Amino acid sequence: MIVTRFAPSPTGYLHIGGLRTALFSYLWAKKNGGRFLLRIEDTDVSRNNEEAAKAIVDAFEWVGLKHDGEITYQSKRLDIYKKYIQQLLDEGKAYACYMSKEELDALRETQMAAKERTRYDSRYRDFTGVAPEGVKPVIRIKAPTSGKIIINDGIKGDVVFNAEDILDDFIIARSDGAPTYNFVVAIDDALMGVNQVIRGDDHLSNTPKQMLVYEALGFELPKFYHVPMIHNADGKKLSKRDGATDVMAYKEMGYLPEAMTNFLVRLGWSHGDQEIFSMEEMLELFDPSDINKSASIYNHEKLDWLNAHYIKNMDNSALADALEAYDLVMTSHDKKEILLDAVKERAKTLKEMADLIKEILSTPKEYDEKGMQKAFKGNADEVLKSFCERLNCATQLHLPIDYHKVMEETITALDVGFGKIGQPLRMALLGKLSGPGLDEVMAIIGKDETLNRVELILEKI
Ligand code: GLU
Repeated sequence: MIVTRFAPSPTGYLHIGGLRTALFSYLWAKKNGGRFLLRIEDTDVSRNNEEAAKAIVDAFEWVGLKHDGEITYQSKRLDIYKKYIQQLLDEGKAYACYMSKEELDALRETQMAAKERTRYDSRYRDFTGVAPEGVKPVIRIKAPTSGKIIINDGIKGDVVFNAEDILDDFIIARSDGAPTYNFVVAIDDALMGVNQVIRGDDHLSNTPKQMLVYEALGFELPKFYHVPMIHNADGKKLSKRDGATDVMAYKEMGYLPEAMTNFLVRLGWSHGDQEIFSMEEMLELFDPSDINKSASIYNHEKLDWLNAHYIKNMDNSALADALEAYDLVMTSHDKKEILLDAVKERAKTLKEMADLIKEILSTPKEYDEKGMQKAFKGNADEVLKSFCERLNCATQLHLPIDYHKVMEETITALDVGFGKIGQPLRMALLGKLSGPGLDEVMAIIGKDETLNRVELILEKI
């Protein structure tokens, strides 16, 4: 069975890069009938970890990912790590190092002066003497001093490191006994049964260290997939400056979870030239070995495009429910269907859609100046007045087409082109020359409000 995991450090929110790795891990496990686990890597941090975990689970819930089983907190597993530290000491695979900070600094300086790579010189590796007094030792793991370490990466292929360049008898427990990052990650993954690790390639240089821990403890190595980073348009690592990075901020801006997962799955992964993927399709088609070897580029227009697509295809009652989060309650609006149909093709986000609807439903407070100049040339006011008279007499006014007929009658009677009524009427109804179809707008606001808006603009000019 494939077991994957997502292992965030608790920052209090879920980053979109993190959500992408989580999605990849989720899809790969679920596609294969496996398990997708969640672990909070909170050994170093004194934040409220339960809250951080909640932020992650909330974001997962929003996009429809669900982790299996209980959440693992590293901070609750110190006894386990300590047991393994002791095991390695007992087996002679790790040792106490009494080098003081001053000694380490001095060593570093000498190495830097000689233009050598700064590294620990293994002076306590085979130490049999009497330990210096008053120094609390760190625990270091015995690493190979030569040879190659090869990560058989599912995305990058074989990644080869020289052991002497990377391992350095690294510290697995600090002088206060606290275990270190790479040590606990390897133990947790092994004990949790994680056999496929999908994570950002910013962790690539940690992997040889973790592999050493696996080997020292006799654990079976998982398959690694190191996913290239998401870059901005300038080819730099995505940062807060490039837009929202907190997943839930996208929710607030009015992005749909379907658009978000579709957007993320295509950041680094593709299937032919297909752009639209439902969750079912992702589950069917995703394979981490198809992930691109190079970084992906964050393209916000693409997200907007996808979101518009999912909004357009959403059914109106679900849309009405979703819009409630943007202070728009439409359950009682009798022209709900016409209203939603009129705007759903025009909005990139739910928020934009809610704003558009609010705009239609409220009498304009101001009028775009340029639009006024353009629309009210010649006898526009006469045309509007004539339109109002006809509208007043009309009895059958329910659908957009009913209003359209009144507009047609007016221009035929006055023998003018459609623009002569369209532009001033648009200014009257919406205060500007852009927006949804006038027939729809009138059908939505009804006869009285249409007349009211036209009267208001006629008073203005
Ligand atoms: N805690 C690490 C991070 O948030 C992830 C570790 C891993 O995936 O191995 O970047």
